[in-house]
Amino acid sequence: MDCIFCKIAKKEIPAKVVYEDDGAFAFLDINPLTAGHTMVIPKKHYEKLTDFAADDLKLFFAVVQKAIAMIEKGIHPHGFTLGINQGKAAGQVVEHFHFHIIPRFEGDNGGTIHSVVYNPPRETLDEIYRKIISSS
Ligand code: 5GP
Ligand code: ZN
Repeated sequence: MDCIFCKIAKKEIPAKVVYEDDGAFAFLDINPLTAGHTMVIPKKHYEKLTDFAADDLKLFFAVVQKAIAMIEKGIHPHGFTLGINQGKAAGQVVEHFHFHIIPRFEGDNGGTIHSVVYNPPRETLDEIYRKIISSS
């Protein structure tokens, strides 16, 4: 499979690795939005959060936590925006699951997660709630 993040995980192409263990890999984004913008990927090629085996998910989020702690120590941001672009509609470009750790600084002029989209539903909350609950 021609996946750039699989190649990074296999060390076939270089990356600035912040931390790695058996299950996951944290490395600096090549086009950082802020200082310390870091990507965490599973070593296995999963595309979506729901694809993960339970054990791999555990390993994965342990690396997310570790990378955040390292960035806090080294860069001293005032906060973080943490997120996933999942699926083309949400802006996922690389089809290998990745978690963005974006350090935030007072006065950086950035937005919140609430500024990602504003497309409120026509249906009531009750109708939406029922759809979710009845289909699971
Ligand atoms: P997405 O929009 O899929 O959530 O974001 C993909 C991210 O991967 C982008 O922020 C982009 O800068 C980063 N990226 C893409 N290719 C490479 C690469 O070869 N090396 C590194 N370090 N980051 C990459
Ligand atoms: Zn991959």
